[in-house]
Amino acid sequence: MSLRTVLRAQARELAGDHCCWPGCTSAGAELAHLHSVGMGGRKAADVITNVAWMCRKHARMTDGMQENWPDFKQGHNALLGEGWEERIPMSGWAWARAEALTRLVAERRRALGFDERAL
Ligand SMILES: [Zn+2]
Repeated sequence: MSLRTVLRAQARELAGDHCCWPGCTSAGAELAHLHSVGMGGRKAADVITNVAWMCRKHARMTDGMQENWPDFKQGHNALLGEGWEERIPMSGWAWARAEALTRLVAERRRALGFDERAL
């Protein structure tokens, strides 16, 4: 079994099959990397603390894709708070999003009694 297959199963189980994006009520559909894998595939990105189970829309958003601005802005409002696009310079959006998701997912997993360090 590949590492990605294991991570996918773990992330899905930890999420209870729901999308991890704040405020989203959709079922998850895919494994998303919180900090990007990057060109050529960064091995350090493939760890449970850097992945989460998400619906397709939020997985694309996690990748920084803006399929439509109102959705993108609303999704980030839920994650970073209103006014994020003025507070955070555009060059820092990806980092701020990844860090906020990392904290959120870790908090939820701790609340469920999962110790990420033990995975
Ligand atoms: Zn979602």
